[in-house]
Amino acid sequence: TYSLGPKISNWNQERQVWLSQNPEFPNSVNGKPRILLLTGSPPGPCDNPIGDHYLLKAIKNKIDYCRIHGIEIVYNMAHLDKELAGYWAKLPMIRRLMLSHPEIEWIWWMDSDAMFTDMVFEIPLSKNCQWSLDLLDAWAPMGPKGPIREEAGKILTANLKGRPAFEADDQSALIYLLLSQKDQWMDKVYVENQYYLHGYWAGLVDRYEEMMDKYHPGLGDERWPFVTHFVGCKPCGSYGDYPVEKCIRSMERAFNFADNQVLKLYGFGHRGLLSPKIKRIRNETVTPLEYVDQFDIRRPMHGNS
Ligand code: UDP
Ligand code: MN
Repeated sequence: TYSLGPKISNWNQERQVWLSQNPEFPNSVNGKPRILLLTGSPPGPCDNPIGDHYLLKAIKNKIDYCRIHGIEIVYNMAHLDKELAGYWAKLPMIRRLMLSHPEIEWIWWMDSDAMFTDMVFEIPLSKNCQWSLDLLDAWAPMGPKGPIREEAGKILTANLKGRPAFEADDQSALIYLLLSQKDQWMDKVYVENQYYLHGYWAGLVDRYEEMMDKYHPGLGDERWPFVTHFVGCKPCGSYGDYPVEKCIRSMERAFNFADNQVLKLYGFGHRGLLSPKIKRIRNETVTPLEYVDQFDIRRPMHGNS
């Protein structure tokens, strides 16, 4: 079967040795495990030019979140393995980054069409290792484009309730792997459901004003979603499940909702959730250091008015 590269079997131990020999590359920063956020988009321009503008807004949103939380970020536009083009491109890239940056504890994939909408919330984390490499190896074989991916798609559709017929995609393949080899993977894989790691946009974007009235960032759940993901919207390409105008409008709202949390640090806010224009929300002062803690959302006690 298809493989991502040479089989690596002693990763945990070799990585520990590497870490002890390279103290200038520590696996934690300020006591927190080192995290690398990986996102990306296809190598070429969008079919629909407005899509490139929203890819830009989506990466600005991720840069802001990562900067605030001390997370490194990688934007990939290459197909490292021509067999694994399209949505499968994340697998060889995750493996490559793991192997090239042994100091990283967590590699966090995030789709280009997802935005952080809670700039305060942080993922509660625990541990990572060899099994991640094994999981990638077990996951990849349905990926090669052409007949393999087509045939695998039939298996996935036959086994996953409600899946429409189309070629194998990475997400269905992962679910199928977890279900069909339960004993091997289930106790190592944690499926998050305590907060909105991937809030589905359709139920959220119309409620942002209500959230701003009632709640505050930091909750990460339905009261203030950590991430809003535009599943089914394809502003960059040609075929989506929703009208492009509705998607664009909703992405604009999500972006500005999140950007307000960033701008608030600096004393500004958007005029409305559909407006790129901003206004001042507090006066300048001659003693800025007196207030700096109060507006810093990285601090637990910051003002959430
Ligand atoms: N992606 C990528 N390179 C590609 C195609 C997709 O990096 O050539 C990433 C991109 O971040 C996208 C994700 O893979 O959001 C999922 O791809 P898909 O085509 O499923 O789009 P989506 O479901 O996000 O609209
Ligand atoms: Mn997506």
